[in-house]
Amino acid sequence: MAIFIKKGEKMEFTFNQLDLKVQKSLEEMGFESPTPIQKEAIPLALEGYDIVGQAQTGTGKTAAFGIPIIENINSRERGVKAIVLTPTRELAIQVAHELSLIGKNKGVSAYPIYGGVSIERQANILKRGRNQIVVGTPGRVKDLISRGLLKLDRVRFAVLDEADQMLDMGFIEDIEEILSKTPREKQTLLFSATMPYEIRKLIDNYLKSGYKTIKVGKNL
Ligand code: ADP
Ligand code: MG
Repeated sequence: MAIFIKKGEKMEFTFNQLDLKVQKSLEEMGFESPTPIQKEAIPLALEGYDIVGQAQTGTGKTAAFGIPIIENINSRERGVKAIVLTPTRELAIQVAHELSLIGKNKGVSAYPIYGGVSIERQANILKRGRNQIVVGTPGRVKDLISRGLLKLDRVRFAVLDEADQMLDMGFIEDIEEILSKTPREKQTLLFSATMPYEIRKLIDNYLKSGYKTIKVGKNL
């Protein structure tokens, strides 16, 4: 059967447009079809746009940024290619786990870093260079950078997850310092449930002009 696509209209995104290894991981995770935010964000991120995603909890934001990042990372590359900032250690652990599941069949893995535990252990694991994605809370990420234990000079993706919550927790200076240690040439993906003035300022200062805004409701 022929599929008719109106001029200027894009074919709807489905997981079978992805790398076969990523598809296999998603199947193993039981992800059959993309959620609304994934449907919009993944193709735009794959095209190279910076993204602002406004969506409530439980809408599938982790895979919305994780899938395009993992599509763009080669497991043979050394060094950290993506830095994901989250407000809490629980989120850092949860997000790193989900990203590692998505990346599993491609040999891409994510490592969570957060405060309140030994920094040396985290530094030793980072030193091995096997984790292309680092997911962390801003305070500990900043500490590791300032001690020379985490280098972000090869980063191609920066993600601010739950950005409003991070600002409420007073992380703005840490976030700005971390972003200043990443290359200018990269993609920035920002997710936030709300868009207060401080978030809009962050967007103005750190996202490339031409960034795309995606807003979705609560239902998956
Ligand atoms: P958010 O970050 O928006 O709060 P998550 O990324 O944590 O949401 O996703 C919420 C839950 O939905 C998680 O358990 C996740 O594994 C699951 N999930 C995400 N995307 C899909 C999908 N496409 N199909 C099935 N389950 C999904
Ligand atoms: Mg989330």
